[in-house]
Order: sequence, then C-alpha cells, then structure tokens
Amino acid sequence: MTATSYKNGLLQMENVPLQRIAQKHGTPVYCYSTRQLADNFHAYQTALSDIMPEDKFTICYACKANSNQAILHLLGMLGAGADVVSGGEMYRAFKAGVTHDKMVFSGVGKTADEIVKAVRNDILQINVESEPELNLVSTLAAKESSAKAHIALRVNPDVDANTHEKITTGRSGNKFGIDIKAAPALYRRARDMAGLAPTGVAVHIGSQLMDLAPFAEAFKRVAELVNELRQQGNIITTVDLGGGLGVPYRGETPPDIKKYAGLIRDIILPLNVHVILEPGRSIAADAGVLLTRVRYIKESGDKRFLIVDAGMNDLARPALYDAYHAIMPCGEPAKGAVMTAYDVVGPVCETSDTFRTGAELPRIDPDALLAIMTAGAYGASMASNYNTRPLPAEVLVSDEQFDLIRPAQKIEDIAAADVIPDWLA
Ligand SMILES: *Cc1c(COP(=O)(O)O)cnc(C)c1O
Repeated sequence: MTATSYKNGLLQMENVPLQRIAQKHGTPVYCYSTRQLADNFHAYQTALSDIMPEDKFTICYACKANSNQAILHLLGMLGAGADVVSGGEMYRAFKAGVTHDKMVFSGVGKTADEIVKAVRNDILQINVESEPELNLVSTLAAKESSAKAHIALRVNPDVDANTHEKITTGRSGNKFGIDIKAAPALYRRARDMAGLAPTGVAVHIGSQLMDLAPFAEAFKRVAELVNELRQQGNIITTVDLGGGLGVPYRGETPPDIKKYAGLIRDIILPLNVHVILEPGRSIAADAGVLLTRVRYIKESGDKRFLIVDAGMNDLARPALYDAYHAIMPCGEPAKGAVMTAYDVVGPVCETSDTFRTGAELPRIDPDALLAIMTAGAYGASMASNYNTRPLPAEVLVSDEQFDLIRPAQKIEDIAAADVIPDWLA
C-alpha cells in the first residue's frame, strides 16, 4: 500500500503526519518514505529473482532520479547498484557505499576525467554512446589500467517509446546511442582496440513508459543484435536493458512488473547473459512528496490563484514536461466538501511556474499546507537556484521517525560562491 495517505484526518507518510515535518523543517521540503523506496526496489528484485538466479542480474538504480546519498545508501544496503551519468553522481554513489562491481556509467558527454575515474575504479560497465567516445575510452583505458575496461555500446533501436517527446531516447534522430544497424561494424572494431573488453550491449529507450510493447520491441532488437555479434565472434556477456517502468501520476495503471519480467524471461534469458536494469523513476517517484505552504490566495477575474512557497526551481517537471502532479491538502477535506478550481502557482517570475491550472480542491485557507505528490523522482535532483532560491531541505521518514537528509541551502552559501573580480572593485 502507498506510504502516504490520510489517517486521523491528517496526511501521513508512514506514521508521521506531514504537518510535523513542515513545522520542524519549514517549507518547501521534500519528504521520502523509506518503506516505499524499499518496497519499490523489492518489486524489481522479486520479479527478477522469480525468473533467474540472483547472481545473474544487477539492479543499478538510476541515480539521476534522486541522488541524495541517504537514498543511495538505503538502496545499496538492499542490494542495488548505481547507474550514474556524471562524475558527480559517481562520486556520490561511491561515498554512499555503492561498490564498483555494481556501477554502470551512462551518458552521451562523458569527459576524459570522468572516464579515467570509471576506469581506475574498475566499474562494472561503461556504456559508450558514440564512436569518438569509444576511441577516447580505448586510449584512456589502455593508458590507465592493465585490465581492460568492460564496455557496452548503447544502441539506439529506433523504437518509439510512446512517452513525452522530451524523455524519449530510443528513436533515430535522438542524440542517444549508436544506430543499431551500425553497431556490428563498431563491435568488430572495438574487439581489436586497446584497453577495451566490449562484452555488453545496452539500450534505454526513454522514461515514463506506460506500455510494455516498446520494451518488447527494443528487447527483441537487442537479442537479434547479440546473436549477430556472437556469430561474428564477439563475446557478449551482459545486456543492460535501461530504465524502468512508468509510474501513475494521476491514477493511471502502470505496466505490470511481472509481465515486464516475463519479457526479459522470454526474450533475454535465452541469450544466457548477465542482465542489468537501471530503474530510477519507479523506485523513487511515489516515495516522495514536496510539501509547500500557501502564501497568498489571490483572486483575479474569474481566477483563484494559490500562490505557494515551492516553485519551478524546486520541482521543474510541470514547467519542463507539462507534467501532472496530484496536489493534496495535508488536512483531510471533509466528506462531500465543495470543490473549488484553483491555479496552484509558485513565486518564480515566469508563467511556466505553475503546478496546475484548475486544480479541483476543497476550500483552502491561507497558510494551508499542501503536498505535491509523486515528487520523489526528478524533483530534488532537478532543483536549481533560479531566482536565487535556496535548494529545499530533504527529509527521510521511517515509521514514526524522520530526519533531515539534506538541510535547506542557505542564501548566504549561494551568495558566497560569487566572485567580484578585482578589476571591477
Ligand atoms: C534516465 C535514465 C534511466 C532511468 O530511467 P527511469 O525512467 O527513471 O527508470 C536509466 N538509464 C539511463 C541511461 C537513463 O538515461
């Protein structure tokens, strides 16, 4: 069951009324449920354990969904690895205790410095996204280490993931991956390049997939590729199937994880490879809420605005992807309460700083506390200092306890980083 629901008239995460967190740590504040994070991770673990031995797969949590070290540490304790897309995420994942043999490095723009760190740490796999990157990894790996770097080429299978255009990644014309048709020739080259063990194939077709069909199509194309590569003499031992399932933001039915595992069983297991998954959103999204307080209620023409203290800098998804997030008052509305349409907006000086237009809510009082739901993934990790607004605090809840896992940033710290050059002084 979901970890955030009304109990005794109050919206509670596990057994903590969210109002208590807001009273103690102020708003805006991100709150995450330990139990929900664990449940979400276990769902993958169980679905995969049901179809293959535990040592044949690694679930590398996609850190970019939420890269707080407390969360990386929690998932690491449960057995997760990490999929990192920058040197920063790699650093945080190592600091949080994720081990090198469970770390995958993805991303189209890796720097030489980042590649060297991956090679020196002997991580599980580097997912290479272009021929120039392949050349650079080879040069650096040959110089840095006597052992060969395990790499996969991330292939672009030209499959429409049927998701928001800004988070679809597996169609030809996207910047991601290597055209699957060009892959065999590149693997043939990679085999003879210094420093490289091209033993993996990786794919990631996009995020927030609510339908299994595109996964099935991509997996089939990957399986065909693995067979072809083996026929031409490549040794392929791992297949990385990329990000996880979509999540319901407004009550939709998400894809069934057992059926997803069924696709892996039917299409990938016959290849007898080590399977890597990189779920992010489906681990963190519904484990988190963003708490925000109403600052002003502004009536203008026939519009009623709730101006809240969280903004697009704290949660960018609505502004970036027109994303829907449910908004719930932290005090439970009375049964049969009359609904009013509100535009819920932040304080940032842009019209895109709108969480929702026409949200149907019971009458909201000034100072009311609201929870913006399903905000655990791509929320805090995408937050910025726009409008010189400090990054919000983050709190982890477990049963009746809650603790800061990141204090709110201080305005002084933001300001202190600026430098006025002498010649201006
Ligand atoms: C973003 C990303 C993921 C995570 O996707 P989710 O939809 O959050 O599960 C996994 N792998 C790669 C390469 C990514 O870029």
